[in-house]
Amino acid sequence: MNQPSGSALKYYYIWTIGCQMNQADTRRLSSQLEALGYVPASQPEKADLAILNTCVIRQHAEDKIYGRLGSLKTLKARRPELTIGVMGCLVGIHEATGLRQKFPFVDVFMPPSDPTALWDYLEAHNLAAAGCRGHACRDLVWNAQLRLPASRCGQAVTAFVPVVLGCSHACSFCVIPSRRGRERSRPPSEILAEIQALIEQGVKEVTLLGQIVDRYGQDLEEDMDLADLLSAVHELDGLTRIRFLTNHPAWMADKLLDTVAGLEKVCPHLEVPVQAGSDEVLARMRRGYTAGQFRELAGRIRARIPDAAINTDVIVGFCGETEAQFRETYQLLAELCFDQVHIAKYSPRPGTAAAKRLADDVPAVEKERRRQALECLQRDILTEKNQRYHGQTVEVLVEDKHKGRWRGRTTHNRLVFFDDHHNDLQGQILAVRIEHTSPYSLSASPAGRLALTL
Ligand code: SAH
Repeated sequence: MNQPSGSALKYYYIWTIGCQMNQADTRRLSSQLEALGYVPASQPEKADLAILNTCVIRQHAEDKIYGRLGSLKTLKARRPELTIGVMGCLVGIHEATGLRQKFPFVDVFMPPSDPTALWDYLEAHNLAAAGCRGHACRDLVWNAQLRLPASRCGQAVTAFVPVVLGCSHACSFCVIPSRRGRERSRPPSEILAEIQALIEQGVKEVTLLGQIVDRYGQDLEEDMDLADLLSAVHELDGLTRIRFLTNHPAWMADKLLDTVAGLEKVCPHLEVPVQAGSDEVLARMRRGYTAGQFRELAGRIRARIPDAAINTDVIVGFCGETEAQFRETYQLLAELCFDQVHIAKYSPRPGTAAAKRLADDVPAVEKERRRQALECLQRDILTEKNQRYHGQTVEVLVEDKHKGRWRGRTTHNRLVFFDDHHNDLQGQILAVRIEHTSPYSLSASPAGRLALTL
């Protein structure tokens, strides 16, 4: 069928930086744009609409955005008809006025998880793609079922599902509460419908997301917590695995731990950021627990979920962190032997309590030295931990191909690579035998297919 002139296909390109929440926001945005008739472009140069989904958790992330905005500015000068949108934590929930002055070539700014301004912009400028003209963009988007974007190569096996938006915890270092707004739980019916739609599109594993995911339901009228939500998700047919993150040590209830232990599809994998091993530093960070309480929690987790994989986040070089205080973090990591540690150098964030009241007084070289010391320690811990997998048969959910090899994960979130050049294994649960281990991944030969647990 001939398209009337001016209503040819419209292309979008989204560039995403940052956390799993941003990835989930991008997926939703893609799905909504496709409901408006947009199709994915392979590169921004070919797009009618280019969007940056941004992160400002550390200065390094923010710098990447400015670099990208620079190249978009050049592109816009060459092609003024290109629509440019900026979404996410750079914009935040407050007025984007300062950004409008700084980046006048950006057409539309959107807070995290809320693209309403984009729908209004597209409608006002008559930019919805063919077939959608004359309808309110907002209605089209809101009535559309969440679909996995066509830009995914192959079938998507795993998906992130936000369940708690925003954060009300105010850790002194963290910019998230001011950028993502106060904590809001999504209604269970909405979450379950979204997961059902994902299952129908082939998704086998979902990860429920929240800054403090343990606080799910605190603000809901119905009497529902994260453990209840996990039980409800567990009931859905067709799902193989369920994960959730991020936990906050002060909010992890025994009921949740028992639920994880008792529900077969919920992976024994927890993300529990400790941030520091010194009580003074934890107090300055306003984390709301002591190192002793964290140790007690780790013991409780391991008692109730035997062999649980516990991952954590650590910040080195926080304001006033002495060598002795850093040593306490080192000790804690050496003692608790986490399964994965995300180590970040402290980066002061404008508007946070730490940036306003505490001096960023650990020199950059010292922060780097401390980061490397923890990386080395953790590499040794993981070398040893992963060696224990050698010769074992583990269950892997195959996600995709990476550099010619199949890539999947164990329930404990270990990355596993293996070869099979004959079969399409994406989305399958396989039993594989581990033949080679390294600190960061395992390598296997397929030992045979397990009966699908579906
Ligand atoms: N809600 C999660 C944190 C999300 S941010 C929690 O409760 O811990 C992800 C990680 O980024 C944090 O765990 C922290 O380790 C790191 N981070 C946050 N702000 C930072 C900053 N200003 N400098 C360095 N790292 C930071």
